[in-house]
Amino acid sequence: MSSNAKTLDFTTFQNVINNQLSSTATTRHSINPATSRPNPEVPVSTQEDLDKAVKAARDAFKTWSKTSFEERRKALHAYADAIEANADGFAKTLTMEQGKPLSQSTVEVGMAGTWIRGLTALEIPINTIEETEERKIIQRYTPLGVCGAIVPWNFPVLLAIGKIAPALYTGNTIIVKPSPFTPYCDIKLVELATQFFPPGVVQVLSGDDALGPMITEHAGIDKISFTGSIATGKRVMASCAKTLKRVTLELGGNDPCILCEDVDIDAIIPKIGILSYLCSSQICMMIKRLYVHEKIYDEFLEKLVAFVKTLKVGDGTEADTFFGPVQNKMQYEKAKDLFSSISADKLKAVLGGSIEDSKGYFIHPTIIDNPPESSRVVQEEPFAPILPVMKWSDEDDVIAKANALETGLGASVWSKDFERGTRIADQLQSGVVWVNSHFDVQPNAPFGGHKQSGLGVEWGLSGLLGYCNSQTQWLKKGF
Ligand code: NAD
Repeated sequence: MSSNAKTLDFTTFQNVINNQLSSTATTRHSINPATSRPNPEVPVSTQEDLDKAVKAARDAFKTWSKTSFEERRKALHAYADAIEANADGFAKTLTMEQGKPLSQSTVEVGMAGTWIRGLTALEIPINTIEETEERKIIQRYTPLGVCGAIVPWNFPVLLAIGKIAPALYTGNTIIVKPSPFTPYCDIKLVELATQFFPPGVVQVLSGDDALGPMITEHAGIDKISFTGSIATGKRVMASCAKTLKRVTLELGGNDPCILCEDVDIDAIIPKIGILSYLCSSQICMMIKRLYVHEKIYDEFLEKLVAFVKTLKVGDGTEADTFFGPVQNKMQYEKAKDLFSSISADKLKAVLGGSIEDSKGYFIHPTIIDNPPESSRVVQEEPFAPILPVMKWSDEDDVIAKANALETGLGASVWSKDFERGTRIADQLQSGVVWVNSHFDVQPNAPFGGHKQSGLGVEWGLSGLLGYCNSQTQWLKKGF
């Protein structure tokens, strides 16, 4: 991809405030989850840094909000080209900080450009509600102001860009707060953006656990777009309530996947295997509860185990690695605790079943054979490669089980009979439902959760409107 953008140096990492790079008196670092070695130092931002960034963002909003969609689209496209010109550095840095295999990092970095171009291809409408000789009533959309993007550690590139692009395109300014576990790519994404956007339009602050609450409390910020866990999402919403900030929450899930007895087992095994374990199962929206019809259960399980055994566990920089380490110690300890429930709940692991100590946070894939619905491996979002597989026979019963949890992010049903597939799909309670697929996403399709999996949506036109105020204008041509 040709671009006039400078090549980024991926060895130093600083805040970007008002298009200036700066560090802080105190710094910190995360560690490479495959090797436990320290990654480079990053800033620990203070209230003063945040106040400076908010002031710059408010000043920038005055002019940025008045630019045209076309101008903003052009700047965003040039930015997309520059990300692509630096794709190699981003992918390597992503594997270093997140642990995912280089092939998966390359795909995620590639999605950044696709998302920027896809989101900016959408038109924000002006709706005419009534038009007569005397008057016109229209509904139009105006930018909100300063947005705060709070990003998790599993998809730091895509999820940051999935907030930066819609905010800027709709005329807002944005301050990005990466996860303290994965600050590196997000910092470089914003450093790169300084070449394409005026000072204050897009900024990044790296910090420790204190920074997120400072951002959600700040009276100078108008909207928070948060992606992360349900527990933190509730804290974010409570904090935003004090200033009635707009808030979008993309939270955790525990997606059910229902396989009917008429599927072609050999054709779908690789798909189901990958869609259950991509990114070592650290994806909000992926197969986490697999319901297999009893008529095909034994054959399916045996073939799934055989397939998953062929997927390599290792450092993400090694060729052919499929399972990188889980991302951080907290996640590793949570997984260890969940693994302890396998013996406590007397469950049968047909693959894996334990965690062996290693230099990095590696966990071998585990498949649990028909655990009871009440077991922790079914009820909890593992965010680690542990897959419970359950037997079903009655359609209404499996739909009820699929819908039984307080989460509702994604769900899928697989059948050769399309009418049956869509009939079941229509009854699933989640923000995204797939027939004969799972985890398809694209920038023009809205994405969000039902129940405790979230509030509002991101992406698609509905996602863009989440960065806008609705304004109804009553335009009378005389008195
Ligand atoms: P997390 O909730 O621990 O952290 C997310 C972000 O919030 C981080 O940047 C963190 O520093 C920040 N944060 C933490 N406490 C905060 C507070 N009190 N106020 C403001 N910000 C705060 O989540 P995580 O562990 O990074 O991510 C994993 C979770 O995210 C999983 O549950 C996963 O399902 C969910 N997730 C959801 C989506 C989605 O789009 N629905 C996508 C990816 C991940």
